[in-house]
Amino acid sequence: MRYLILSDIHSNESALEAVLAQVGRRYDEILCLGDIVGYGPDVNEASDRVRELAPVALVRGNHDKAGSGLTDPTDFNPAARAAAFWTREQLRPDNLEYLRQLPVGPARVGDFQIVHGSVRDEDEYVFHAREARVSLELAEVSLIFFGHTHFQGGFVLRNSGRVEQVRLHWPPGVVSAKLVLATNARYLINPGSIGQPRDGDPRAAFAVYDDGGHTVEYWRVPYDVAVTQERMRKVSLPTPLVERLAAGR
Ligand code: ZN
Repeated sequence: MRYLILSDIHSNESALEAVLAQVGRRYDEILCLGDIVGYGPDVNEASDRVRELAPVALVRGNHDKAGSGLTDPTDFNPAARAAAFWTREQLRPDNLEYLRQLPVGPARVGDFQIVHGSVRDEDEYVFHAREARVSLELAEVSLIFFGHTHFQGGFVLRNSGRVEQVRLHWPPGVVSAKLVLATNARYLINPGSIGQPRDGDPRAAFAVYDDGGHTVEYWRVPYDVAVTQERMRKVSLPTPLVERLAAGR
């Protein structure tokens, strides 16, 4: 089975469509790691599209909670908070309800798990090996997909007890990179963010996991950033959020 893994779409319909066009039919099922909304302009479009794609499993993100009013974005920075309140005003009632009922991670799919933040806390950021180790040792499975940081890559716990970062290299023109999963190691894999990458590469990020071939294929897809930025300006979303899309940070 090949799973298309979507994470941190953040109301960026232009980026999501570029991803779907790139991947074509090279997958069997879809997984969504949360943050369908927040930051971006296409609140209902992105929600509608994910509903239509009908992921076989999905978990909620902190922006899905804040945008749908399940939580108050008191711990968000001012720009993110403004976008969360704006998102709440835009959501149609059916999409608001859809976001509110998204499950809390971890969710189990076959022999792996998906989470938004980490295995122990859906809102925890896993940026470093020390945080990754907690999830890798806590999980009941040896493969976990996570989002939230908007950094494509992840971590591997070797048999020796060492935690290593998955490092990806993107020479010009290259759009995909394959990772072969070792059977005697545990993995925490981040497909990257579709709608607001922060790892220095503005291209939309996603991954495809093939459980038969034991591979994770990471992808980076260019999309028309200017179109999303223009839509953001039109509805007066905060300028720093508009600018960071072009920088990928
Ligand atoms: Zn996010």
